Amino acid sequence: QENILEVRNLKKHFNLSGGRVLKAVDGLNFAVKRGETFGLVGESGCGKSTAGRTIIRLYEATGGEIIFNGKNVQKLTGKEQSKFNREMQMVFQDPYASLNPRMTVGKIIGEGLDIHGLHTGTKRRKARVAELLDAVGLNEEHANRFPHEFSGGQRQRIGIARALAIEPQFIIADEPISALDVSVQAQVVNLFKKLQKEHGLTYLFIAHDLAMVKHISDRIGVMYLGKLVEVATSEKLNAKPLHPYTQSLLSAIPIPDPELQKSRERIIVQGEIPSPLNPPSGCPFRTRCPAAMPQCAEAMPEFKEVEPGHFTACHLYN
Ligand code: SF4
Ligand code: MG
Repeated sequence: QENILEVRNLKKHFNLSGGRVLKAVDGLNFAVKRGETFGLVGESGCGKSTAGRTIIRLYEATGGEIIFNGKNVQKLTGKEQSKFNREMQMVFQDPYASLNPRMTVGKIIGEGLDIHGLHTGTKRRKARVAELLDAVGLNEEHANRFPHEFSGGQRQRIGIARALAIEPQFIIADEPISALDVSVQAQVVNLFKKLQKEHGLTYLFIAHDLAMVKHISDRIGVMYLGKLVEVATSEKLNAKPLHPYTQSLLSAIPIPDPELQKSRERIIVQGEIPSPLNPPSGCPFRTRCPAAMPQCAEAMPEFKEVEPGHFTACHLYN
């Protein structure tokens, strides 16, 4: 399967006051295959949202390369740039903040059509908006209403319809269900799955909850303090996590089978995540790692392929 996206040594650093530098994203390497769901997980502040925003160019990368459909997106100009703007879309975490409260739902969904000159003319526009509302489980009459008239789950459906309007190939979904009631989360996840099938979409699905992401992702990348610590297929990551951080995240997920649950030891990770402004020397996880060795303070472990398609950054696998 061909890679639709390749991220090479991607960095996004923010310069703060007093000469401090926040290395929010610090050297990511991963690829996403066409048609798959790639889950990007990690605790809040690990840089996963910043990574998503940098890939879609809401932020300019500090370093590295973003290759989309074989082209370096940082070098696109004119027509190619506008094609990229169409092909990659984002669904945001907060369905309350991400929809303009003064615009009708029809306007919100149709905005991208205007920008890209698609489905022009009142009649065609109306038909396209109705089609999109239907695709996300809403209906035509909703087009004349305003965002505040809808529930959180419905607003996220509107956000999805907006992303879908201009027929993207790739959607970055940044914690699209974490602001929603638990009762509607599964419905929105199912909507993402249905749309992926119908439109051949590729997803970069960002989440803080590994339990959720492991069910919907084909492959998963685990982030810690601005870096990827492990990338593998969802099955492999679940069955045989290599990195101690991934192991601790997995051990925190309850297993319905009590026998299996007994056999899986809960790995408790000590302490808080260090400040990304002042990361530990060597391995960024060493201050919380139950397996830390003296060498972990000396050198940053290399992110490498330990088994085919299974990457990790840990001195245990050298
Ligand atoms: Fe733990 Fe060392 Fe591996 Fe880091 S490199 S995860 S500290 S064992
Ligand atoms: Mg975030």
